[in-house]
Amino acid sequence: MKTFNVKAYGTESKDADLKEMQIERREATPKDIEIEILYCGVCHSDLHTARNDWGGTKYPSVPGHEIVGKITKIGEEVTKFKVGDLAGVGCMVDSCKECESCAQDLEQYCMNGSTGTYNGIDKHLEGHTFGGYSEKVVVNEDFCLKIPENLDLQAVAPLLCAGITTWSPLKHWNVKEGSKVAVVGLGGLGHMAIKLAKGLGAEVTLFSRSPDKIQDALDLGADAVVISNYENEMEAVHGRFDLIIDTVPYDHDLNPYMSTLNINGTLVLVGFIGKMDEGLFTPPMILGRRSVAGSVIGGIKETQEMLDFCGEHNIVSEIEMIKMQDINAAYERMLKSDVRYRFVIDMQSLKN
Ligand code: NAP
Ligand code: ZN
Repeated sequence: MKTFNVKAYGTESKDADLKEMQIERREATPKDIEIEILYCGVCHSDLHTARNDWGGTKYPSVPGHEIVGKITKIGEEVTKFKVGDLAGVGCMVDSCKECESCAQDLEQYCMNGSTGTYNGIDKHLEGHTFGGYSEKVVVNEDFCLKIPENLDLQAVAPLLCAGITTWSPLKHWNVKEGSKVAVVGLGGLGHMAIKLAKGLGAEVTLFSRSPDKIQDALDLGADAVVISNYENEMEAVHGRFDLIIDTVPYDHDLNPYMSTLNINGTLVLVGFIGKMDEGLFTPPMILGRRSVAGSVIGGIKETQEMLDFCGEHNIVSEIEMIKMQDINAAYERMLKSDVRYRFVIDMQSLKN
């Protein structure tokens, strides 16, 4: 298979900084589009992967799965896009397309394993996939999204992961006008959860550890903020929420949140992957039919629906633009929850 080299930013090991490197991309096959990447959002999953927090990272690792750019080439069988169009790529670039999940537009739950935009098994080239911290990416058109033209392109990038990851549970648990939704953690996912839940007409509360984010949360549309380590504030929202979206990236105690769910309420985890040390106290579940669930990104059809919804409702991410060369400092700030509220890399900086 024909390939070409592009500049990228990645890391050789879990302890090393990210630095410039060369990676291979395939020449567009008949169903592929080649995208010149203009902006790439920085997700906490990028950091988890670069530093092997979940195990299984393949090196060199080039993160990035909030990709927007301009199409520079298309294969001869491409029908959805043309050269010069804008396109987006999120967390997946392939799936089996045959299993029960894929048949229901749930490629993220592909029973044969969907292919991650980075750290996935590359079905075309040997080795693993490389993400959006790079000049170009080549992706099957079925896994590419159309970008609403009225939105600010750089602020659209985070919708491709942070947006869909919070949209999918809001839709699955049928959030609508008047639903009572809470969000745990005001970072990249958290701030999108607030905007999207508000867009759907819900009443939204933020749980945060950070009193200095209260005003921002209200400005983003939250109706209330509860500082999660103030017991009296937690007590005041006892039995209140239909759905809680928990975006915290690290192990934490879920029990204080469970009693803030209404009867039949669900706490859906989208952040921490691993074993919760504290354990779950079961009476709130058994005596109130409350659930703890999890959710991963969203299917391609659902991602397009989310983007179209954002186009109609003028919803984008709050971003801080960085240069590619600033990525290591950005990761350190992310670890301190000091992101307001998504870093986006201006990929022009990789050309310099
Ligand atoms: P982020 O921007 O760093 O935001 C996380 C927020 O969680 C922080 O701003 C902070 O908010 C809170 N937080 C951080 N550490 C905490 C701790 N130890 N205890 C309690 N709260 C803490 O991260 P993100 O990009 O939104 O990603 C969040 C998580 O979702 C990551 O683990 C990421 O890998 C995962 N993720 C999952 C999916 C999926 O499909 N399920 C997709 C994308 C990302 P406050 O300051 O308000 O407390
Ligand atoms: Zn992500």
